[in-house]
Amino acid sequence: MPDQSLYPLRFEPILRRLIWGGRRLGTVLHKPIGEGADYAESWELADYHDQVSVVSNGPLAGTTLRELLHTRPMELLGPALGARDQFPLLVKFIDAREDLSVQVHPDDEKGRRLAGDNGKTEAWLVLAAEPGSVIYAGLRRGVGPEEFRRAIETGAVEPLLHRFPARPGDAVLIEAGTVHAIGAGVMLAEVQQMSDATFRVFDWNRVGTDGKPRELHIEQAMESIDFGRGPVDPMKTRVEDLGGAGTRERLPSSEYFILERWRLHEPIRIEQDRFTILVGLDGDLKLETAGPPVPLRAGQTVLVPAAVEECRLVPRGEAVVLTCVVP
Ligand SMILES: [Zn+2]
Repeated sequence: MPDQSLYPLRFEPILRRLIWGGRRLGTVLHKPIGEGADYAESWELADYHDQVSVVSNGPLAGTTLRELLHTRPMELLGPALGARDQFPLLVKFIDAREDLSVQVHPDDEKGRRLAGDNGKTEAWLVLAAEPGSVIYAGLRRGVGPEEFRRAIETGAVEPLLHRFPARPGDAVLIEAGTVHAIGAGVMLAEVQQMSDATFRVFDWNRVGTDGKPRELHIEQAMESIDFGRGPVDPMKTRVEDLGGAGTRERLPSSEYFILERWRLHEPIRIEQDRFTILVGLDGDLKLETAGPPVPLRAGQTVLVPAAVEECRLVPRGEAVVLTCVVP
């Protein structure tokens, strides 16, 4: 029997509960949360150890992203990208009711050596920010390893961190080696390398649920920090016309992903030679292909496999969507 041809895929969200999480993944993004105020992350698209996304729509419902990657790599990823052992990107929503720890992610070489994992470069798109909330990104100019290590020892790390007020719509690139912390009150969408390599350097002198400080990874962090990088601020974007259908903005991108924000008021056709990930940011749209249309609302994620060479995005009124491809 011939295989079912691929179509725009939705996945079951994988919810992660952590001490700093909140409830907005449910109340704002409509994820299926239960009791409790510690819903920290919704992994929208993941292929990481036992955290693997499962298709939730259409005839392939119940199939995992990993099975598709292994059995139908070219249709999923596209010949331009070629077969891979692991799906290359992780897409998440993050709700920080409290400050996250101050942390750093390694690059690929250090990730493999220090954590047996990929490196992690990530990009953020702020979805909501309570008044007064901040993001810490990068070190203040001139902060070197000796000063930073002393600050870790004395618990006075905050004065060495660059920070900016978080605003909805801010787009930030956190390259591997950048010290960072998402501040309390911020909710964001994150696109990153498929990795969970995180080295915690400072946890605001607080304790975990068991009354003890959470583990830090100071030596690995010191080795991973790029002390030459300095402060990181939200990216200034330029708005360009999108063929009369709306506008596009190029967002923080890297060798691992290219992100754009599209604001659509008319339908637009996309043609592709590799997969595209679409994340609904505002409003409502549907994806039209040969098969049944797939709706995409704010807070939802769709993977358009490479084999769907052509599809139409049809907004209802105005819709804003994050697009993500691998270069
Ligand atoms: Zn991070």
